[in-house]
Amino acid sequence: CTVRPLRLLTPLRASTLSPFTTRASSTLQHLKSATANPSSSTGHHPHPHRDRHINRSEVDDEVPWLAKQPLHPLSLADLVKHGRPPLSAEALLASARFTLSLLPIRLAHRIQALRNLPYIVVSNPNIRKIYNNYQHSLSTLLPWQGRTISNLEDEIRFTEVLAELVQTHTDTIPILARGFLECRKYISAAEVTRFLDEHLRARIGTRLVAEQHIALHFSSTPHFDPGASPTPCPEHPSYIGVIDTALRPASTVDSCGGFVADICELNYGVRPRWVVDGEPDTTFAFVPMHLEYIVTELLKNAFRATVENGMNREPVVITIAPEPPNPVPPHRAVHLDPPSETRGVFGNTDAIAPLDDNAPGVTIRIRDRGGGINPDVLPHIWGYSFTTFIDQDEVPGAWGDDALGVISAASNGASSIAGLGYGLPLSRAYAEYFGGGIAVQSLYGWGTDVYLRLKGVGKIDEGK
Ligand code: ADP
Ligand code: MG
Repeated sequence: CTVRPLRLLTPLRASTLSPFTTRASSTLQHLKSATANPSSSTGHHPHPHRDRHINRSEVDDEVPWLAKQPLHPLSLADLVKHGRPPLSAEALLASARFTLSLLPIRLAHRIQALRNLPYIVVSNPNIRKIYNNYQHSLSTLLPWQGRTISNLEDEIRFTEVLAELVQTHTDTIPILARGFLECRKYISAAEVTRFLDEHLRARIGTRLVAEQHIALHFSSTPHFDPGASPTPCPEHPSYIGVIDTALRPASTVDSCGGFVADICELNYGVRPRWVVDGEPDTTFAFVPMHLEYIVTELLKNAFRATVENGMNREPVVITIAPEPPNPVPPHRAVHLDPPSETRGVFGNTDAIAPLDDNAPGVTIRIRDRGGGINPDVLPHIWGYSFTTFIDQDEVPGAWGDDALGVISAASNGASSIAGLGYGLPLSRAYAEYFGGGIAVQSLYGWGTDVYLRLKGVGKIDEGK
C-alpha cells in the first residue's frame, strides 16, 4: 500500500510530539500531485471563489462572530456516521461538508482564547507563531464557507486544505512549551495549565475531525476513481478512517516498547525489557495514534525510572485487562485520579462521548521497579512543563532554562526520553477525551503503577 490508514510509516518517531506528522506531509504531497494531474478524472480547475486570498483583516473580522458560535458537541458517532470505507461519492461529500461545518468555529474559539492571554504573552514570538498558524488556517477555510462541497473536485481541494491544516499545526507543542517557558515571569503556572489544558484538548478534537476526513478520502477515492492512487489497504479492513475497530493494545505496547527501548539505548546505553501479560489478545475500537502517543509517553517514564534506579534486569510489566461490560464488578473497578481540574471548561462541548456506555474498554497497567515518585514531586507531575529530568535537585515545579535545550531538540524531531514535562498531562488529555483516564500509584522506594483506562468506541454502525 502506498498509504496505510494511520499506521505510522516511520514508527512512532514523529508521534513523540505529534502522532500526525508523517501522515500529514505525505498526504499533502499526494494531494498536490492529484490536483496537479490533468489526466485525473478529478483534475483541478481553479475555483474563482475558493482560490481567493483572504487577508488578515478579513480573518480578524470573522473571528468574534465565529467564536460566539457554540462548539458542536462532537460524538464518535459523528466520526463513523458516514459508514465504513470505501464511502460512496455522496457519503464522502457529506463527510467533507460536515468537517467544514465544524472547523472554522473550532479555530475561531482557539484564536479568541489566544487573544485573551496577557498581551505580553501573545507578543512572544513563539506564542505569536501559533496564533499566526491559527489565523492562517482559518484564512484557508473561510473561502469555503457558505458554499456546498458538491463534487469530487471540490472534495479533493478541500482535503488538500485539511492536510495543510494538519501539517501547519504539527509542531505546536514544543513551540508553545518554549513560548510559555520564556513568558514564565508574566503568567502564573496555574494560568498556563488552564490555557494548555483547554487548548491541547481542543487541538486533539480539531485534528481528529480533519484526520478523519483525510483518512476517509484516502480509503474511498480509488473506489470511484480507479486511476487515483493510493489504493485502499486490504490489510486494514478494520479501519473506519482513523478508528481501528479491532485495535490490539498488546501490539501497540510491543511496537512502542521497541521504539522507547531504542531511545533508552541512545540515552543510557541500555535497553530495558518489558513483558505483556493479562489478556494480550484483547481488541477494542479506538484511535491507534492516540494509544500510541499515550503508551509511548508512559513507557518512556517507566523505562527512564527503571534505568535511573539501576533496575534494568527487572522488566516493566504491562498488564492488559479487558473491561467487562457495565456495570463493572467492584473487584474490577479501577479508581482513577480525579480528572484534571479544567475538564469542566469543556463540559460536554468538546470531549467526545463514547458511542454507548456499554462500549468495551480496556485497562492497561504499566508497572515498573523504578523506585516510585518522591512524595515532594508527586503533587506536581500533572503540571505542563514539570519535569525532574534536567536536574534532580531542582525545586519541584521550577522551570530551568536547560529545558529550552530539550525543547529545541524536540522541535527538530529528535526523540528524548524525557524533559518536556508534557508526557503525563497530555497523555491524560488524550485518555480523557474518550471518557477514560489515567491514575498513577507510586510506591516510593520501590516502583510505580500507572493505570490507563480507555473507553472503546462502542458498536459501530456499518452504514452504507
Ligand atoms: P517528563 O517525562 O518530560 O519529565 P512527564 O509529564 O512524563 O514529563 O513526567 C513528569 C515527571 O513525573 C517526571 O519528570 C518524573 O519525575 C515523574 N514520573 C512520571 N512517571 C514516573 C515513573 N514511572 N517513575 C518515576 N517517576 C515518574
Ligand atoms: Mg515523560
